[in-house]
Amino acid sequence: MLHSPNMEKRNARIIAFTNWKGGVGKTTTCVNLSAFLVESGKRVLIVDLDPQGNASIGLGIPPRKAKTIYNVISEDCDISEAVQLTPMKGLEIIPADIDLAGAEEELVRASGRERILKNILDKIRPSYDYICIDCPPSLGLLPVNALTAADALIIPIQCEFYAMEGIAQLMYTIKLIKKRLNPDLTIDGVLLTMEARGNLTEQVATEILKYFGKIVFKTRIPRNIRLAEAPSHGKPINLYDRRCAGAVAYQNLCKEFLTRQKSQAVVETFYNAPKASSRPPT
Ligand code: ATP
Ligand code: MG
Repeated sequence: MLHSPNMEKRNARIIAFTNWKGGVGKTTTCVNLSAFLVESGKRVLIVDLDPQGNASIGLGIPPRKAKTIYNVISEDCDISEAVQLTPMKGLEIIPADIDLAGAEEELVRASGRERILKNILDKIRPSYDYICIDCPPSLGLLPVNALTAADALIIPIQCEFYAMEGIAQLMYTIKLIKKRLNPDLTIDGVLLTMEARGNLTEQVATEILKYFGKIVFKTRIPRNIRLAEAPSHGKPINLYDRRCAGAVAYQNLCKEFLTRQKSQAVVETFYNAPKASSRPPT
């Protein structure tokens, strides 16, 4: 790792930011929650698992200039060579670029193909408090590797008419992964993103709350142009404009997340007594 080797030993919680649907705020949430976790004194590594490389570019890592998670998966380099610094001190990233698109094909042929990322990340758990995986908007071996490596998921859902589209499939996949590959996988929270004022948002929020219950974060992320601008400056929102509504919302999310981490009760409630009466549309 890039930081001092004689620091205290940690045991990172691995969190995957996932939703099969594209453009719902996975990357924005992964990058900005990570940045505020670092501000709260946590040591955080982002693993960009999306060939689009949005988290990497958004943190100032240009494509094709650094070792990536693809090089680590293909055993071209050691994980320590792929960890990059970001503009935020204490926040590190293993980047991705379009080369990662080829990994799906290579993983198919590998033995223990669903557990490759888990084996890689387990080795570096002692160096971080949180390892945050930014998942691609797809089904396939990369997200299956993320869900197998993760201790928990954060599911961003955009406040729009088709918000619950794909959620049934996602929940079914999570169930299968829990059964076959990762029995302890849990959901640390469902996050409403890109909220705008109006009845539609409230209707969508009500539907999501009915299905997911208490695991929905009370904090909601508003639609805020500064959040969309920050990546083009290669910075998380706290470094770009820490007073904007988007920054305040992600800071509040971080506080709620950390409070929730202290009490696992909310999370367990979902699995032990799911609100099965309200199913999402298939
Ligand atoms: P993909 O599925 O393609 O990986 P994603 O789920 O990671 O997408 P983001 O890239 O985080 O979604 O967000 C999609 C777009 O919306 C980006 O241009 C981002 O800057 C913008 N965006 C995200 N959250 C907000 C917000 N709260 N307000 C305004 N724009 C936002
Ligand atoms: Mg993304």
